[in-house]
Amino acid sequence: MESKDQSNKSVSGHLNPDLKKQFANQRRRELSISEYMDGILSGDRVILSQAITLIESKRPVHRSLAKELIEKCLAHSARSIRIGITGTPGVGKSTFIETLGQHLIAEGHRLAVLAIDPTSQVSKGSILGDKTRMGKLANAEAAFIRPSAAGDSLGGVARKTREAIILCEAAGFDTLIIETVGVGQSETAVHSMVDFFLLLILPGAGDELQGIKRGIVEMADLIAVNKADGEREKLAKQARQAYRNALHLFPPTESGWVPKVVTCSALSNMGIAEIWSIVENYQKFCTKNGFFERRRSEQAGFWLREHIDQGLRELFYENKAVREHWKKVEEMVEKRKISSFKGAEELLELFLKG
Ligand code: GDP
Repeated sequence: MESKDQSNKSVSGHLNPDLKKQFANQRRRELSISEYMDGILSGDRVILSQAITLIESKRPVHRSLAKELIEKCLAHSARSIRIGITGTPGVGKSTFIETLGQHLIAEGHRLAVLAIDPTSQVSKGSILGDKTRMGKLANAEAAFIRPSAAGDSLGGVARKTREAIILCEAAGFDTLIIETVGVGQSETAVHSMVDFFLLLILPGAGDELQGIKRGIVEMADLIAVNKADGEREKLAKQARQAYRNALHLFPPTESGWVPKVVTCSALSNMGIAEIWSIVENYQKFCTKNGFFERRRSEQAGFWLREHIDQGLRELFYENKAVREHWKKVEEMVEKRKISSFKGAEELLELFLKG
């Protein structure tokens, strides 16, 4: 199994290699909104990549351009399926996406793979990094692979990923995979932006449920026991049964869909086509009973609240009066001269007056 550090690096290192050079050449010149839009709508992956860099930028001028771009792209978002994939480092996420991705491309889909990793300290330059996994997929015309956005908070990284989804959909990518390295709360963030949630687990890694948080298992529409090959096949089948039994004890899902548990081998391409049929069945099932659209609407509502929370927080911390008094109030709180409640109240009052 890889260490977490290596895994993080590898998620950050994904980028279609043939885009790197063009990207490096083109990024020097700033594009206009209509150049961005033309590029995105024609499915130009270099311009799409630049547009995502724009939405990741902190510079106010870029932020306002990015907002305009996102609004324009929203009008062009076509029918898509968004799939979240999670699992511990080393479970085989990259290998799985590589294999599934090729299957999808062969079926005529266009696939975008985005990653969410709030722990990665990706600098602007490192998206051009050398390490590329999913090698075949990265070279495919019909695939777009993008590393996790940099950011110090999960909220920030998640927002950028959601915006990137909109741009990718406008660029004609009908299948979106959002991968997370499975640390902390990132699964919940991914779950709040996808239609289908896939949990990859390892066969027979000791006791059943492998210490994977119950909450994550509960979110899964499909659990796939990967590496069900060679000696591990039997163990994988045992794990599949254990999870099937465990899922029976869970309350029914909101969608009415009964979560499935299967085995697969990403490395030897076994069970991958079956997994895709399950995704398609899910989409049909949830489209028919209205859940698909309802969930997207609920997610939009959720993100409205998230954006407001984040926007208010930014306004607060950037507020002149708050910044002027921050140190003093913080010191008083730390020295226990005033309570944290009182300190917060004072700063909030300053903010509201300012
Ligand atoms: P990630 O950290 O979850 O992205 O995992 P990787 O895709 O990098 O896989 C970790 C290791 O497991 C690599 O050495 C893969 O070759 C191996 N691996 C992935 N899938 C399978 C599989 O289905 N069977 C076997 N035997 N090995 C696999």
